[in-house]
Amino acid sequence: MPYPTQVPNSIGHVESIKDETLIEDIGEFKYNPPSPKEANAFDSVPVRDLPGAEDLGPPFVSVYGLDGSRVEVPVGDPRFDKRIGVIDIALVELDLTTIDEQARQAYVTPSKVRNLGEEHHVRMALPSTNTRYNAPTVHESWRLMTFQNFQQKEVFGQSLFDIYYDLLDRANRLVTHGRIRLEQCPAQDCTYGQQFINSTKPDTCPKCGANIYPTDPLRVHERVAGSQSNEAALNVLMGLIEHMVLLGAADSIWNKNPEQLETTAFIKDGPLAQFDTAAWIHQPLHNKLSQFQRFLRDTNREPLVYMGIHKTGDFAAYAQEVRDYLTGPTVLPFSNDDIYEHVIAGDRTKDYAKKTYYGKNFLYKSGKGNGTGHCLPFLIPRRYQGGRLGEKKGEIVQNVDAYTELARAVSLLERLRTVQHKDGLIPLVLAHEAASIPEELGRRVFGRVAEEVAR
Ligand SMILES: [Zn+2]
Repeated sequence: MPYPTQVPNSIGHVESIKDETLIEDIGEFKYNPPSPKEANAFDSVPVRDLPGAEDLGPPFVSVYGLDGSRVEVPVGDPRFDKRIGVIDIALVELDLTTIDEQARQAYVTPSKVRNLGEEHHVRMALPSTNTRYNAPTVHESWRLMTFQNFQQKEVFGQSLFDIYYDLLDRANRLVTHGRIRLEQCPAQDCTYGQQFINSTKPDTCPKCGANIYPTDPLRVHERVAGSQSNEAALNVLMGLIEHMVLLGAADSIWNKNPEQLETTAFIKDGPLAQFDTAAWIHQPLHNKLSQFQRFLRDTNREPLVYMGIHKTGDFAAYAQEVRDYLTGPTVLPFSNDDIYEHVIAGDRTKDYAKKTYYGKNFLYKSGKGNGTGHCLPFLIPRRYQGGRLGEKKGEIVQNVDAYTELARAVSLLERLRTVQHKDGLIPLVLAHEAASIPEELGRRVFGRVAEEVAR
């Protein structure tokens, strides 16, 4: 307990609170948040006016929800600072016909549908701080283990490597004789420039002799440090695998019963975007999705519903700001101008996140139910002005009418929402629970396992 004259503990341990000039300055601040009118200055589209709203088409039969988690855990004596990384991606497949009874109630209870979903996992271990794996450095161990994991881990019978290889091809990274063009040797101290490496098995740099792997173009290893935390690298790799696993689920349907893509929906936690060194993958991901879109269009079926949901970050923060000012059910289409005006400052002459996103941002506000309803910033694949459907040519189409899956997509969001979690969607709640590695428990369990198996 603090003495009566002391500032309570929660504030007291922030030393800067004792700086009087600082406090005075804070007192001088004038606040000017957007007024309700400004915050909602752009046009929202009532759900009944969305493209496709007049006929929603056949009901969805199943939905895939995806989420991932990662943890970096210390191994053994903390003085030696040895760490390993673990990634767990969970894909939950929900049969929507069996949750219909539940869904007829206003909100579905996740615990009641848990047993109706089928879980699929992609898990992998990565060498982190001061840890090696059949290679002389942490850096090279990471590259080797990424390649091995890609070869060994599967999504519905297809290896991550097969999925990756197709993306490489779609990105025009495979040149003559199936070689991959690398702009620079991936070994840390080598400056050897452009070379053409084997695209299916390990190769060696002609200058330094280091092993080079077909997965090196992902360049995640550039974020790996031998003696520091590698959470940044784990995040980039986890993001990549998330995209590939969800795409793999869609691809498996495409290969077996492509017409089922019409009644299957795909939802991932996080944006349809890949950041950092592996950002180039956003373009072939988009390209692959457009193949499914074109098939559905050309066979007169309902459009593909493939979505990302912002749970954190600028769009999620913006959604919280405006949620009470929106009268649902409605959709806000974020144009470039809207985004730069209201969400994130940026260069207005350029399409938002052109080099990282394959999705276009929207926001869905549900009608009021219990509480204030759901407010969900979401993404669906971008449309471009040039080229055929799905081709990345020209600028992003801003006109809502081009996004023919919108009405169907928000009807699904409506059906999947739950009040058990704020802005919760059943498949994502289940995927999150399935994937999450609790930080503390993860440290204890994986740290101990690593010690035991090392004996
Ligand atoms: Zn080299």
